[in-house]
Amino acid sequence: MAAPFELSDDSVVVIIGTGAGGGVLANELAQKGVSVVSLEAGGRYLPEDYINDEWESFGQLAWLDARTTSGDWRVANDFSGLPAWIVKAVGGTTTHWAGASLRFQDHEWKAATTYGPVQGANLLDWPIDPREMDDYYTKAENKLGVTRTGDRAGLPGNNNYKVFEAGAKALGYEEVSTGRMAINSASNDDRAACQQTGFCFQGCKWGAKWSAAYTDIPRGEATGNLEVRERAHVLKIEHDDSGKVTGVLYADADGNQHLQKARIVCVAGNSIESPRLLLNSASNMFPEGLANSSGQVGRNYMRHMTGSVYAVFDKPVKMWRGTTMAGIIQDEARHDPSRGFVGGYELETLALGLPFMAAFLDPGGWGREFTTALDSYENMAGMWIVGEDMPQETNRITLNHDVKDQYGLPAPNVHFDDHPNDVAMRNHAYKQGMAVYEAVGATRVFPTPPYPSTHNLGTNRMSENSRDGVVNKHGQTHDIANLFISDGSQFTTGAAENPTLTIVALAIRQADFIAAEMGKNNI
Ligand SMILES: Cc1cc2nc3c(=O)[nH]c(=O)nc-3n(C[C@H](O)[C@H](O)[C@H](O)COP(=O)(O)OP(=O)(O)OC[C@H]3O[C@@H](n4cnc5c(N)ncnc54)[C@H](O)[C@@H]3O)c2cc1C
Ligand code: SF4
Repeated sequence: MAAPFELSDDSVVVIIGTGAGGGVLANELAQKGVSVVSLEAGGRYLPEDYINDEWESFGQLAWLDARTTSGDWRVANDFSGLPAWIVKAVGGTTTHWAGASLRFQDHEWKAATTYGPVQGANLLDWPIDPREMDDYYTKAENKLGVTRTGDRAGLPGNNNYKVFEAGAKALGYEEVSTGRMAINSASNDDRAACQQTGFCFQGCKWGAKWSAAYTDIPRGEATGNLEVRERAHVLKIEHDDSGKVTGVLYADADGNQHLQKARIVCVAGNSIESPRLLLNSASNMFPEGLANSSGQVGRNYMRHMTGSVYAVFDKPVKMWRGTTMAGIIQDEARHDPSRGFVGGYELETLALGLPFMAAFLDPGGWGREFTTALDSYENMAGMWIVGEDMPQETNRITLNHDVKDQYGLPAPNVHFDDHPNDVAMRNHAYKQGMAVYEAVGATRVFPTPPYPSTHNLGTNRMSENSRDGVVNKHGQTHDIANLFISDGSQFTTGAAENPTLTIVALAIRQADFIAAEMGKNNI
């Protein structure tokens, strides 16, 4: 049957969320002839709708439903109601993302084995051999049009990159480039080349940056096998007496509730909403929430070890011009415990506009130190630090029964304590980041605390054994054969690299698995 599908149609695959994981999975399944209903809590915004104003754009696209925080991380103090920066819109956070698209290093698939025991860390190897991912990574890079892969050229460096590269070379770093970016360096895939207009976080008006919103989603819809219902917020996943999931309850834009039947349900709401939905779907049969026999749903929340370094120079840099994040130093991404921590980190160029800079440079800061820093905005360069953080069982998403969302459901609480390994790695990265800028004449340097989490990972992690995690190597929940997790919450460990390329590669791989299992009538 062609889209649109009936609520009573129990032959469809229902996918919750249309971001990097859900949006790609929906298109991949639709291309294979599988009927898909995608339910997306947010509205549909396309390049012509994007707003070139940081806070207005944030208000248009960000997930702003009630959330609470706890733990010793700075974010709980600085942004207590906003633990994460996640988008609520068709295309998910791929509208806001910067496009950095890196493969994991081989050893990062096997962190427990490589790093050995780390006190307080709940490390586990991914149940995937790195070689199994090679072809899927290539498919993901081709889909996203990643520069410096295939025959795609790198992007040109902007001023922010030129300062960064000069500092890196002065320090003796060797692996510095404009990186692998899901941004067209030449027109590709019916999308324009990057025009270097900047402010990529606010959505790319040229479509040069890949987003599921204007690639995978419309292509899936064009097959007639995919129906995307926007402003459809899933409240609960239903199951039958045998424990199989049977459909989902959702609220439409007017708040009216509907039950969409399903043969298979795939959860791709990002790493806070996905576990929250499983927990909010508790029933007599599954009192601790769906797929939670291990007790691991919501646990091992990771957000990458992050921070930023900004620096002021004598002359203008105008870092905001050109791509937001096309610049990377990879020398520190290796695993080298002689630095005092396991795992590694990347340094990536980053530019914020003045409104965001005022909010993020020194949250709560004031006085001359702060105002003179902002006065120097034109002469600033900036970089972001992103490294592997340790999964901890106690870092977790739980239901906060004291705070309710607009549907009367308990809000998620995000608890996060930095692990000593995260702290040691951040201090090392701050030192190196400041040294990069000081090597080329910075007059002031600003190590800057983490922003609300953009890389939200773990919380429904993959494991070989059902007791250690929530899903198997295909993202299929250990407990319920027709319930899948299809987003970054599957991550067993976080690796040092920005996660989206891996989320996309896993979604392509999962589509192969689901279609094959459906064909064999296994699910
Ligand atoms: C500013 C910024 C810059 C970034 N830059 C990079 C980068 O350079 N490289 C990189 O790799 N990553 C980057 N990221 C991270 C990247 O965007 C995310 O890791 C990725 O999009 C996560 O994919 P996902 O499928 O897990 O979730 P998302 O893409 O967030 O999609 C989840 C979707 O599910 C929907 N949803 C949630 N709950 C429900 C529900 N109950 N019912 C219906 N729908 C629901 C949401 O509305 C959302 O649309 C960046 C993120 C931000 C915010
Ligand atoms: S700099 Fe390039 S990728 Fe970024 S928003 Fe502009 S055109 Fe798009």
